[in-house]
Amino acid sequence: MSNKVLVLGEVRDGVLRNVTFEAIAAAKQISDGGEIVGVLLGEGVSQLASELIAYGADRVVIVEHPHLKTYTSDGFAQALLAVNDQEKPEAIVIGHTSLGKDLSPKIASRLQSGLISDVTEIEGKGEDAVFIRPIYSGKAFEKVKIKEGVVFVTIRPNNIAPLEKNTTRTGDVLSLSVDIQNLRTIIKEVVRKTSTGVDLSEAKVVVAGGRGVKSEEGFEPLKQLADLLGGAVGASRGACDAEYCDYSLQIGQTGKVVTPDLYIAAGISGAIQHLAGMSNSKVIVAINKDPEANIFKVADYGIVGDLFEVIPLLIEEFKAL
Ligand code: FAD
Repeated sequence: MSNKVLVLGEVRDGVLRNVTFEAIAAAKQISDGGEIVGVLLGEGVSQLASELIAYGADRVVIVEHPHLKTYTSDGFAQALLAVNDQEKPEAIVIGHTSLGKDLSPKIASRLQSGLISDVTEIEGKGEDAVFIRPIYSGKAFEKVKIKEGVVFVTIRPNNIAPLEKNTTRTGDVLSLSVDIQNLRTIIKEVVRKTSTGVDLSEAKVVVAGGRGVKSEEGFEPLKQLADLLGGAVGASRGACDAEYCDYSLQIGQTGKVVTPDLYIAAGISGAIQHLAGMSNSKVIVAINKDPEANIFKVADYGIVGDLFEVIPLLIEEFKAL
């Protein structure tokens, strides 16, 4: 039996985040030929509907409201629940981002449904779909299936390949009016702490520094390398605690989880809590002075050396390509 699946489009700075397209690909597999309904919540977001359709949505429902301009869990939950009441889908897919992690438990509890969070792979399709997710800080994977009720899934960015964009696809775009009210929080202003350009959670290349970077200035060569490779800078908690960089860069169990194509760990020992946030990266390169450092156990390529010598050499080599 084919399923109707809702996919929440996540918008940042007026642009759909890549995880939205990955969520549509996941929804296709769950739907097994059923309808994919893209959902856009916000203000001034309607022009993004065609992009959802180009990536595989069959139809788009838009809820626009001044209270949805900036994310609040109350506002987005009211809007998404209203779309859910109208559409009555068999499944809902959201990115496992900061927004998704905040919103999904609220929706799941209101719907009295199960929630399979942080899915990295889906086996089978339709009713037989089995969801694979890391547990124990990425040391093991479990396979989960929901037997009844709405199948509610959040997917980890950078793990499920999006479908090819097809701008010739067409689909209906509907507006739904929702009276967003009784918000416990109203966002007056958003002040950005950092703007590194490339979003760390979705970056294809991450150059991360640890306590071995030794200072805020020590991060400069890492930033140069990240810029050169079109990537983002990340950090261990050791580097954040030492105030070499902002906590928004922290990767790990209590930081961000990243799965880039290339992860370069410089001056990071490889504590289990750090590995929890990066060990599923496709290729890991570790640079560390200590040949016994734990990070080498998960690295595909290890360079034993001083990062302040190795990183400038890497920059030189990449510039020469
Ligand atoms: P260190 O362990 O001090 O390692 C520094 C490394 O740099 C060493 O291996 C050293 O050989 C190398 N080095 C030094 N100088 C150079 C040089 N010039 N060139 C090359 N290498 C050099 N940590 C996280 O990262 N993320 C988390 O989310 C996280 N969550 C935590 C949650 C809990 C509940 C707890 C208890 C801890 C958590 N931690 C987390 C902390 C974690 O246990 C480690 O303390 C931390 O990851 C260590 O950071 P580090 O590798 O940068 O520092």
